Amino acid sequence: MVNIERVEAIPVSIPLNHPYKDANRIETHSRDVVVKVTASGGAVGWGGGSPRSFPTGETQASAIKVLGDHLLPLLEGKDPFEIESIHLEMEAAIPFHYAPKSAIDCALYDLQGRILDTPVYNLLGGKIRGEMPSFDILPLESPEKTAEIALAAQAEGTKAFKVKMNRDVKTSVARVRAVRDAAGGETMLVVDANSSWTPKLAISVCSMIEEYDVTMVEQPVPGHDLDGMEFITRNTRVRIGADESMRPDYMTDLMRRRAADVVNIKVNREGGLLPSKKAAALAEANGIEGLCGSVIQGALIDAAAAHLFASTPVIVYNESGKAPAWHDMDIVTGFRVENGMVKVPEGPGLGVEIDEKALRRFTSSD
Ligand SMILES: [Mg+2]
Repeated sequence: MVNIERVEAIPVSIPLNHPYKDANRIETHSRDVVVKVTASGGAVGWGGGSPRSFPTGETQASAIKVLGDHLLPLLEGKDPFEIESIHLEMEAAIPFHYAPKSAIDCALYDLQGRILDTPVYNLLGGKIRGEMPSFDILPLESPEKTAEIALAAQAEGTKAFKVKMNRDVKTSVARVRAVRDAAGGETMLVVDANSSWTPKLAISVCSMIEEYDVTMVEQPVPGHDLDGMEFITRNTRVRIGADESMRPDYMTDLMRRRAADVVNIKVNREGGLLPSKKAAALAEANGIEGLCGSVIQGALIDAAAAHLFASTPVIVYNESGKAPAWHDMDIVTGFRVENGMVKVPEGPGLGVEIDEKALRRFTSSD
C-alpha cells in the first residue's frame, strides 16, 4: 500500500500582465496556494487552490493557516487513493475553506495519476473531449476600449467572450453592444453582473440586451438571494447563470429549485475535483447546464479544470484556461492554449510539470 509521507503548503503570487477589474475588485496578481504531497516510493503530486476574499471570504494567508493547522496533518500516513475518506475528514476538521481543500484534492489526483501512469481524466470517468474554447473575460472598461480588447483577442483565436457588467447599466449595455458590433454575429457572448443588480433590474437589463444575442446572464443578484435567482430564471428568455450562488452551501438548494439554467462549477470553489464531479451530477439530474469556471489563477489550477471539462458531459461552456494569457510566466510548464482552444494535458496526473525555479521566484505570502 502507498502512504502519504510528507505534505507541504506554499503560497504563490504570480503577477498579471495587466490589471483585472470587475464589479467588486481590481487584481494585480494570481494569489494561489500550492500543495505538494510526497508518497512512499517517492511519487509526488501537486495541486493548487486560489483563495478568494469575494465571495468566499478566503485569503492566501487564511488558506495557508488552515492548511497548516487543520488539513495537512490529516494526510500523513493516509492512502492517497482514499479521497472520499480524506474529504470526510477535512469537512469534519473544518467546514468551508474550499481553496485549501481543493489544493489537497487536486494534489491527491495528480499523485494517483502519476502512480498509475495515467491522466487524471481517466480517474474521473474518462475523456469525452480533448479541448474546449474559453470565454475571454472583458473587464469593466469603456465600451470603445472593451471592443478594442475583444478585437485583439479575436485576432489571437478567441471564440467566445464574457462581458462584465455592473450597476452602471447604461454603460454596461453599451459595452455589450460595442462587443457584439466588433466581434460579429457568430461569436458567443455571455455577460456577468457579479451580483450587482436587484431581481427587477436584472429582468429589465435582460430585455435590453436580448437583441445582442446574449447566451447567458451570470449572477445577476447576490449569491445568497436564491429567491431572486429563481424569480429571474422564471421570468426571462435568456439563460441565467449561477456563479456566486454556486458556493457548496448554497448549491443544493439552488439546483433543487432550478433557480438557474447554467451553473458555474469552479474546481477551486467547490473544494476540488471530486466535489466538482458531484456538483456536475446534481446539475445533470436537474436539467441544468454546466460551465467550467475559473478565477484569476495559475496554470496548475487551470490544468485541474481541464481534466474536469474533459470528463464531464454536462459541462458545455468553459472559462478556464486563461493562465497563459494572464501571466508572462507560471510555476508549471506543459499547459497549452492554441488558437483559442484549451488543450487537456495528456501526461500522467494533471499532465503539467512544476518549474522549481519559477516556483521559488513566485513563492510569497503578501
Ligand atoms: Mg462570474
